[in-house]
Amino acid sequence: MALLEPQVSALPPFAQKFVSQSKQLFIDGKFVDAVSGKTFPVFNPATGDVLVHVAEGDVADVDLAVKAARRAFESGPWRSMSPSERSRLLYKLADKMEEHAEELATLESLDNGKPISVARVADVPMSIDNLRYMAGWATKITGETYTIPGDFHSYSRREPIGVVGQIIPWNFPLLMFIWKIGPALAAGCTIVMKPAEQTPLSATLMAELIAEVGFPAGVFNLIQGYGETTGARIAAHPDIDKVAFTGSTEVGKMIVKAATGNLKKVTLELGGKSPNIIFADADIDAAIAGAAGAIFFNSGQVCTAGSRLFVERSVFDRVTQGVAAAAKAMTVGAGLDQRTEIGPLVSDEQLNRVTGYIDSGISEGARALSGGVRKGDKGYFVEPTVLVDTKPDMKIMREEIFGPVVAATPFDSADDILKTANDTVYGLAAGVWTTNVSKAHTIAAGLRAGTVWVNTYNTFDPSLPFGGFRQSGWGRENGKNVLDCYTETKSVVIKL
Ligand code: ADP
Repeated sequence: MALLEPQVSALPPFAQKFVSQSKQLFIDGKFVDAVSGKTFPVFNPATGDVLVHVAEGDVADVDLAVKAARRAFESGPWRSMSPSERSRLLYKLADKMEEHAEELATLESLDNGKPISVARVADVPMSIDNLRYMAGWATKITGETYTIPGDFHSYSRREPIGVVGQIIPWNFPLLMFIWKIGPALAAGCTIVMKPAEQTPLSATLMAELIAEVGFPAGVFNLIQGYGETTGARIAAHPDIDKVAFTGSTEVGKMIVKAATGNLKKVTLELGGKSPNIIFADADIDAAIAGAAGAIFFNSGQVCTAGSRLFVERSVFDRVTQGVAAAAKAMTVGAGLDQRTEIGPLVSDEQLNRVTGYIDSGISEGARALSGGVRKGDKGYFVEPTVLVDTKPDMKIMREEIFGPVVAATPFDSADDILKTANDTVYGLAAGVWTTNVSKAHTIAAGLRAGTVWVNTYNTFDPSLPFGGFRQSGWGRENGKNVLDCYTETKSVVIKL
C-alpha cells in the first residue's frame, strides 16, 4: 500500500488556469459574484491546501436565481420551445461535454480527489451517456386517453413541474449534476442548482458549457455556497415547486421539514449501509474482487458502497483475507497522479469522521485485517480497511461510514442472512454472489433495497431506476421513472 507524494505543482495547464481565478455564480445567463461579495475556500484533498475561492451564495443569491428561473419557466422562450428543440439542446450539451471530457475529468479528480483514471472512464463518460439518454426522453413524454361513461373526451397531459431546486453531494459531483439536470430539462423545468461546497468546480465548467450551447437565460442557474444557507433557502423557498436532493439521510430529513412551507414536491436519494452477501457456492475469486471494488471504489464515498460484507462461514477467512490483500495492494495517491488507484477522502471533516468510525469499531472489539489508520500526515488519505470480529450492534455495522472501510461478518444460512441483511434503517442497494440461480432470485426478492446486484456490484445504467427503500430515499432517479418526479399529470375532460 504505497502512498505517492502529491504532485500538485504539476497541475495540468488547464487546471492551473481554471483555479487561477475565483469562480462565480451563474444566474439568469450571466456569471456574477455573490450579492454579499463573499467567497469561500475550496481545498485540495490531496494536500489540504486551498485550491481556489468560490463566490459564496446566500439567501439573496438564491432568491435572484429563483426569480430568473420562474421568469424563464413562465414567460421565456423555454416555455414555447418544442420538446425536440429541448432535446437537441441537451444533445448539444452532451457533445460539448465530450469536447471538454479531459478538462471535466481533471477538475473532478482535482476537486474530489478521485483517481483521474477513474474519472476518465467512469464519471465523465457515464455523465455524457446519462445526458444523452435523458435528451431522448424529452420527445417521449406523453399523456394518455381515457374512455369514461357519457359523451366525453378525456385525456391526461404531463406538464413540467416548474422551478426545481437541486442540491447535490461531493462524491460524484459531475454525475450527480447530470442525473439532476438531465430529466429536469428534458421535462421542461427550470433549475436552481447547488453543488456541494467541497466540490464546486465541474459544475462551474458545466455552467460555461450550458451558456455556450445556448440554453435561454434563467433556465439553468448555479448557486454555490454552504448547505445551511443556500441549501436551506432552496429547500424552504416559497416559489420553488420541487426540490431534488442527494446527500445524507440527516440532511434529507431537514429538507423534508423545510419543504412543508409550500408543500413543494420532494425527491431524496440518501444514505445506505448496503449488504454484500457472498455464498460459499460463488465464484470466490470474482466475489473477492467484487467485494473489494464494492467498498473501495471512490474511496468508499458511494451511497451504495457494500459496507457490510456477509460471507458464508466456510469461505469467510478466504474471502476476508482476499479483500484485505486487495486493499494492501492498492496504490494510494493524489487523484491527478496517473498511478493512483485510491485517492484521498474529500475533506478534513470526512477524514475525521472515517477514522473516528474505525477507532470506534476497534475499541468495540473489531480487528483490522488491513488498514485501520490514516495514511501520511498531509492530505486526507485513509488506508483501505477490512474489519472482522464485528457484532451487529456496533456503530460500524449500523451507521454509514462513507469511507474505504468494510465490516465483515460470517453467516450460516440463507434464511438468517436475509434477516441480518435487512436489519438496517437503510435500503439503497445490496449485492449477492452465488452460482445458484434459484438462491440468487430468492435472495434478490427478499432484500429490502432499491437495487440488487447479483455477481456484480455498482453496475449502473441510465435506463435503470435508482433509489432507496426505507430511509434511503423517496422517488427514483434515472430510467423513465424519474420523469414522473419532474412532471405533474393533468386530467382534461371535455363534454362532446
Ligand atoms: P455529507 O454529510 O456527505 O457532506 P450532506 O447531506 O451534508 O452530505 O450534503 C449534501 C448536500 O446538501 C450539499 O450540497 C450540502 O451543502 C447540502 N446541505 C447540507 N446541509 C443542508 C441543509 N441544512 N439544507 C439544505 N442543504 C444542505
